[in-house]
Amino acid sequence: MTSRRNFIKLTALGTSALSMGRFPIPAANPRPQPKQTPALGESPIVLSTWQHGVNANAEAWKILSTGGTALDAVEAGVKIPEADPNVRSVGYGGLPDRDGHVTLDACIMDQDSNCGSVAFLEHILHPISVARMVMEKTPHIMLVGEGALQFALENGFKKMNLLTPESEKDWKQWLKTSPYKPIINVENHDTIGMIAMDKQGHLSGACTTSGLAYKMRGRVGDSPIIGAGLFVDNEVGAATATGVGEEVIRIAGSHLIVELMRQGNSPEDACRIAVERIIRKQPVKSKEIQVGFLALNKKGEYGSWCVQKGFNYAVYSNTQQNELIDGKHSL
Ligand code: ASP
Repeated sequence: MTSRRNFIKLTALGTSALSMGRFPIPAANPRPQPKQTPALGESPIVLSTWQHGVNANAEAWKILSTGGTALDAVEAGVKIPEADPNVRSVGYGGLPDRDGHVTLDACIMDQDSNCGSVAFLEHILHPISVARMVMEKTPHIMLVGEGALQFALENGFKKMNLLTPESEKDWKQWLKTSPYKPIINVENHDTIGMIAMDKQGHLSGACTTSGLAYKMRGRVGDSPIIGAGLFVDNEVGAATATGVGEEVIRIAGSHLIVELMRQGNSPEDACRIAVERIIRKQPVKSKEIQVGFLALNKKGEYGSWCVQKGFNYAVYSNTQQNELIDGKHSL
C-alpha cells in the first residue's frame, strides 16, 4: 500500500517519476530559457584544473568560440581526459580502489541551476554524460552505484572495462608494498574540474574523477557533490575543486567560494579564504594534503588558490590561448 508520505513524494515528483524505466524518459523539468543577466567582461572563457585541462580546454574552446553553450563545452571538454588512458585520475585508465575496481564520480551544473550527478559508478566511459542525462531526463539530481549503472545502460551507454593494464599493474604493486588501507596524500588524485562562460555570458561547470587512488570501496569524494566539487550560480560565478575531497566537503568548498564572490571578493580571494578555512579546521592534516580551487566570476575574472605548491590550471580565452598557470598557495 502506498503510504501517505510516499504518495506525497510521488505526487510531488509528478508523472515523470512514474514513467522511469526502460522506455524513453520525458524531460522532467521543461528547461526555461536563460533569464539571468549576461556577463560584463571577457567571454567566452574556459578554465580547467591541472595539466590535463589543456586538452580538455582545447575541445571546449571549439564549442565556445563558435557560439556554443557553456554547458555543451564543459561536457565535451571533460570527456577528453575521461577517455584518455594516460590520465590516471579520471575515467578510463583511472587508478582503482583498493580492491581493484575503477569507480567514478561526476557532476554537471548549468546556468539555470539545473544539475546532475553520478557517484560510485563503474564500467561507463563517460560518467559526465550520464550526469547530464540525470539532470535532463530525471526529476532527480544524483544517482549512485548500481542504480546509476542501470540508468546508464537503459539509456544506451555501453559497459566496458575501465581498468587498463598499466593501472592494474600499479594497483598490484601497491598491494604488495603498502598497507591495505586508504592513504590520503598530495599525490594520489587529480580530478578535472572545468568552469566556463559562453559568448552569451552564461556559466556552466563539470567535474569528473576516478577519485583518490586505492580508496575504500564505496568511498565518494567531493567531485560529484554539488556545492563541494562544483557550484555554479549564473548571477555570480562558478567554482570547482580538486584534491582531497573530504576536506572540500567539510567546508562545502565550491559553494562557499561562490558565496564569497557574491559578497564582493575577487575569485582569487574567494579561493584563498576557502583554502585558509581548510587549513584552520585541520592544521596538522593540511601539511600532508593538497586542495586546489578554481573560480570564475560574471565579469570573466578568474583566480585560484591551493593548500600547497604544485597545483596548476589551464585558461583559454580570446586573449589567453590555453595557458597553464600555477596556483598560488598558502603553505
Ligand atoms: N577531489 C577528488 C576526490 O576526492 C580527488 C581529486 O581531485 O583528484 O575524489
